[in-house]
Amino acid sequence: MANSKHVVVIGGGIMGLSAAYFLQKEGHKVTVVDKSEINAGASFVNAGYITPSHIVPLAAPGMISTGLKYMFNSSSPFYMKPRLDMDFIKWAWYFKKSSTRAKVERAMPIIRDINLLSRELYEGMKTSGELGDFHIEKKGLLMVYKTEKSRDHELSVAEKAKNMGLEVQLLDAEGLSKMEPNVEFDALGAIHYECDRHTTPGQFMEKMLSYLQEQGVVIKKGESVVDFKTQGSKLTSLTTNKAQYHPDEVIIAAGSWSSQLLKKLNLKLPLQAGKGYRINMEAPTGISMPAILMESKMAVTPMQGFTRFAGTMEFSGINHHIRKERVEAIAKGAESYYRGLRIPVEDKKNARCGLRPVTPDGLPYIGRPKVFKNVVIATGHAMMGWSLGPATGKLVTEVISDKRTTLDLTPFNPERKF
Ligand SMILES: Cc1cc2nc3c(=O)[nH]c(=O)nc-3n(C[C@H](O)[C@H](O)[C@H](O)COP(=O)(O)OP(=O)(O)OC[C@H]3O[C@@H](n4cnc5c(N)ncnc54)[C@H](O)[C@@H]3O)c2cc1C
Repeated sequence: MANSKHVVVIGGGIMGLSAAYFLQKEGHKVTVVDKSEINAGASFVNAGYITPSHIVPLAAPGMISTGLKYMFNSSSPFYMKPRLDMDFIKWAWYFKKSSTRAKVERAMPIIRDINLLSRELYEGMKTSGELGDFHIEKKGLLMVYKTEKSRDHELSVAEKAKNMGLEVQLLDAEGLSKMEPNVEFDALGAIHYECDRHTTPGQFMEKMLSYLQEQGVVIKKGESVVDFKTQGSKLTSLTTNKAQYHPDEVIIAAGSWSSQLLKKLNLKLPLQAGKGYRINMEAPTGISMPAILMESKMAVTPMQGFTRFAGTMEFSGINHHIRKERVEAIAKGAESYYRGLRIPVEDKKNARCGLRPVTPDGLPYIGRPKVFKNVVIATGHAMMGWSLGPATGKLVTEVISDKRTTLDLTPFNPERKF
């Protein structure tokens, strides 16, 4: 193919694999390099939601005061560990500046459009059968509330979502129990976002990985990118702990680690790791509908073969330390909504965590930095990374193939000012 390039993708999470998927379809030669065995990371521990409903970015009015309130409570659902780290302090300042009503209103249609594009691409993958039969269900997402305050708060979001063309309905306690007949809720009701989907991330990643290998994509596991060489506006080579590569193009899709790598190219992108946990319950729970338990700020997903409970947004740097009090709080949170639910000790012991790459304004970084003509950045998707993988993969492929992008990339400019 005339315009075929050799592209090295750094990171084998949902961003990296989605990029590889669309790149190989365009006839590019692709190598994915990942420092892990590609079985960990945020892309494996998430709640599996594909969420056009999540139109409000994390940086919304009130979030900083919530963060400050919870600052010294490590078992709270939103936790910022106090620390004297200049990157974190700068990021928190930009986050505060982004948390205005006007900025949130501006971000909402952008978030909706990239979400809808991604949902369509996931569904296209399912219909094509290329990856085999992976789990994706169209049941929507319940926002379950115990208090009228939470209901009223979510109703105002639901109203905006409705005005933006998304399907939403309000359920009282009876409506909720009709929708989820095999469990008994301790809640007042729910708002049902019919537009959402849910999946089983580990299964999808495995199928995607096998498909890519069958298509000739080279997957390098256990290989960590440690340095780059540049000449003027060109990245000429990258070095791993095992080899050196001289690709035509490089995609940086290294999740929460991306800003560390970008520093080696003298690019300073504000990005913080937002740690989240998951507990998988193997025994049957009767839960058949994905739900966000509003007051506990956590997610419940019926996946293929188990139920997943996930939650917490903990800003404590890049580490995979599991806080037992946090895992316990997630389990207790779930048990307080589903009467009779008891999450076994063994499942809590097997809890895992992952790092969401969080930008200050809730929009991802997708596109080329000005100084390099053969580098593309694809990270910063925070709580929506699972949803936005395919759309991001398609957009970065269009950039590399010199095509007009399906969506305007200006709002995702990696070098935007906050
Ligand atoms: C508990 C939890 C629940 C979530 N629920 C949802 C949800 O329901 N819906 C949703 O849309 N999103 C959800 N998310 C967010 C979503 O999981 C992330 O945004 C997404 O997985 C990020 O994907 P990624 O590919 O950017 O990063 P990752 O999956 O973290 O992958 C990055 C990869 O880069 C590799 N890497 C890093 N540095 C290097 C290096 N130097 N050299 C080589 N490789 C390197 C890492 O090993 C890793 O495999 C959730 C996240 C969490 C933690």
